[in-house]
Parts: sequence; C-alpha cells; structure tokens
Amino acid sequence: MKTFHNPHHALHQGREEMFRGRMVPCHEVPARLDFVLAELQRRPLGALQIPEVDDAALDTAIARVHTPRYTQFLAGAWDEWVAMDPSNAQRDALPSVWPLGNRNAFRTDVLPHNFAARLGLFSFDSGSPLTAGTWAAARGGAACALAAALDVLGGARSAFALTRPPGHHAGADFFGGYCFLNNAAIAAQALRDGGKQRVAVLDVDYHHGNGTQAIFYERADMLTVSIHGDPATEYPFFLGHADERGAGVGEGFNLNLPLPRGTNFATWNAALRQALDAVAAFKADALVVPMGLDTFEGDPISGFTLQSADYFAVGEALASASLPTVFTFEGGYAVDAVGSNAVNLLEGFARAV
Ligand SMILES: [Zn+2]
Repeated sequence: MKTFHNPHHALHQGREEMFRGRMVPCHEVPARLDFVLAELQRRPLGALQIPEVDDAALDTAIARVHTPRYTQFLAGAWDEWVAMDPSNAQRDALPSVWPLGNRNAFRTDVLPHNFAARLGLFSFDSGSPLTAGTWAAARGGAACALAAALDVLGGARSAFALTRPPGHHAGADFFGGYCFLNNAAIAAQALRDGGKQRVAVLDVDYHHGNGTQAIFYERADMLTVSIHGDPATEYPFFLGHADERGAGVGEGFNLNLPLPRGTNFATWNAALRQALDAVAAFKADALVVPMGLDTFEGDPISGFTLQSADYFAVGEALASASLPTVFTFEGGYAVDAVGSNAVNLLEGFARAV
C-alpha cells in the first residue's frame, strides 16, 4: 500500500480554537501527521511518496466537489485578512458570525464584500483557524487524495492519503471541524470519474462525516455510510441522525449509524458489520475510508473506548469488503497514539488482502 503524504501540511498550523467557551491551543496539530509518518517508516507498508499530480488535474478534481466561489475565497482569504490590517498577520482568521442556513433568516446567495461576513458564510464553526498556509496545505491534501485515487484506478489494491488538515467535515462550500477541502469526497469522485460505477464511502471517524454526506446526498452512484458519536450529544450536532437516508434519486444511499458516547469496541464492531453489509448490498466497485482514529479510548475530545489493538481488527474487517480502497487520514487527537493506531488499522487491512 502506497502512502501519499502532504509535504505542505505543516504550513497549516492554527494557534488557538474556540472550545467550550474559551480559546485553547488547537487540537489539530502538525505532529499528528508526523507521528503517522514516523510509524510508517518504522513499520513500512509500502512506498512513502509525495503526490505528483498535474496542477490542472488537481483544480478539476477539487472543482468536481467544491464550488468556485468557495475555493476562490479560500485561495485569497489570507491575503484579504492581512490587507484589512497588517497586524492581522500575527493572528489567525476565525469566523464569528454565520448566516443560519435553513430558516430563511439570512441570505446566502449574495456574496458580501466584508471579509468577516464571507469567513462566516463559508464556515460553520469557530474551531477551524484559517492561517497563512491553510490553502497551500489543503490543496496539498487534495493532491494526496487524488494521487491515492489514481493509484487505485491504476490497479493498486489500496492507497493511503496521509494528509492534514483533515477533510470529512468540509462541504461543497464550507469549512469547519478543522477541515477545508473534503479529501474523501475528492477521492471518491475521482474514482467515479476514472471509471468506477458505484463508489462507497465508509467513514469510521468518531465524528459524523457531515461534509461528505452533504456533498453526495442526492446521488445514487455514491453510497455514504458513517459510524459516529450520536449528534444529539456529539459534534457536529446538526447532522448525522439515523433518519437521514438521502434525498431525490439518492434516497436510500446514505446510512448513518450513530452510537452513544461510551460505546465499546464490541458494539462499534457490530455497527461496522452493518456498514459493510450495506456496502456489499450496494455492489460498490470501490471504497473510500475516511480514517479517523478519534474512536480511541484516550482521545481528548471524543467518547468511544476502542483500544490500540482493536484497530488491527478494523483494518481486517474493511479488507473483507474485497474492494479497491482509498484511505484518507481524518481525526485522532491523542497525538502520541495516533501513529500506532493508524498503522495498526492499515496493517490489519494489508495483512488480510
Ligand atoms: Zn473526528
């Protein structure tokens, strides 16, 4: 299994995020990726590569998932932020005002001139600082996702897009949850565009993959499945319930398996079996796994109790789908353990294929 890692990831390094009413150091830090990379060097599963994808092909792959006005905003946001006040260069841009999306309370079709307004228009939380290097890092991550998809389209059984910032909370036109470009959706769409007829996304992060669900919600050629903390109590709160099954032609092609905080591996694993049954029933011909390791018992912001050794079994179960598979690196904030947990999962997969 090749790993495509993002050489630009450390350019995105937020200082602080709003967490439970106060500013705290960011949970999503460059060391997360460094620990996974170091573990892959210690326990190799295949080549470690920097993605080499054509700029125009990358732009196209991103544009298949994200809207032009959103990517144009992200690309220029830092320069705008600093142009407002040169001293802003010492601070990250954090949104603080949002249009309510679904109550006809505010307009979202008119693009405001005000930067703070656009920062809010294109985001859904205040936990995701936008920094000088955010766009370069996010684009580098999308390149990893595209390279991994192309590797699988070229015949590889599996590939790993090791990147941060993560992606599964980002929608077609918004960032949040530490995510800016939806790497899993970019990989899934690239697989579809490369000839795969039916692509399944099975999200195993602790948090619901709201961005991926929203992007593919009205699609019958993409099955989205997510196993996650119940949104009644867990982030991202406003999506991820069991009754969200897709819409229009996509009805029946979204499956949410919310589980209560405190869920152990036995119960989680039963949900994974259910998810894999859905993937098999869909007759997918490729699989994308947004791979979060924040289901780990030691995770500081999550609430399941999986142990490090359990991740071997998770990888093995995912391999049993017998599908060409792209993994994208998502959450996991127990930084010291994220490397071994990630590689345990991938090794469990690799051993079983
Ligand atoms: Zn997560």
